[in-house]
Amino acid sequence: MKTCIYPGSFDPITYGHIDIIERASKITDKLIVAVLNNHDKQSLFSVEERLEMIKDSVKGFNNVEVESFEGLLVDYAKSKDSRLIIRGLRAVTDFEYELQMAQTNRELYKDLDTVFLLTNLKYSYVSSSTVKQVAAFDGDVNKFVTPFVADKLMRKYNKHFV
Ligand code: ADP
Repeated sequence: MKTCIYPGSFDPITYGHIDIIERASKITDKLIVAVLNNHDKQSLFSVEERLEMIKDSVKGFNNVEVESFEGLLVDYAKSKDSRLIIRGLRAVTDFEYELQMAQTNRELYKDLDTVFLLTNLKYSYVSSSTVKQVAAFDGDVNKFVTPFVADKLMRKYNKHFV
């Protein structure tokens, strides 16, 4: 059975991520969406909150699992018996960083390959950071995230609930 891992921050999960998950789930037996628990990176949502939002977003896909991990992605991949990492590419600005990561991971674990799925044009401009900026200023985020996530964002910024 082939297992792919889609790692990321997902702070929070957007329709861009969900599009990648949907497409990746079709090309593998099992897809694990893996939230990196990175203590150095400041995130808006806790790992538990991010897991909850991803689980809600992927409930329609029956071969998708959601987990968090700490430490090196290569060690996590080995522990899951996976040799394939999925990442999404939006603009050319993503490329340099993604190339560096993929090459480093391959140096660390020779059998590990990274597969890049090109963004759906509809969501090519969508990122977790811009979604957070829009939400912080009380903008409508419903085009970018699911209603469940939009609600969490609004609560986080204490909009409409104070
Ligand atoms: P990270 O901090 O690891 O980059 P992100 O949650 O920002 O975590 O992104 C995870 C992956 O999803 C990355 O490969 C990123 O390029 C991809 N991604 C994010 N937004 C989109 C989008 N709108 N379309 C396609 N891929 C995306």
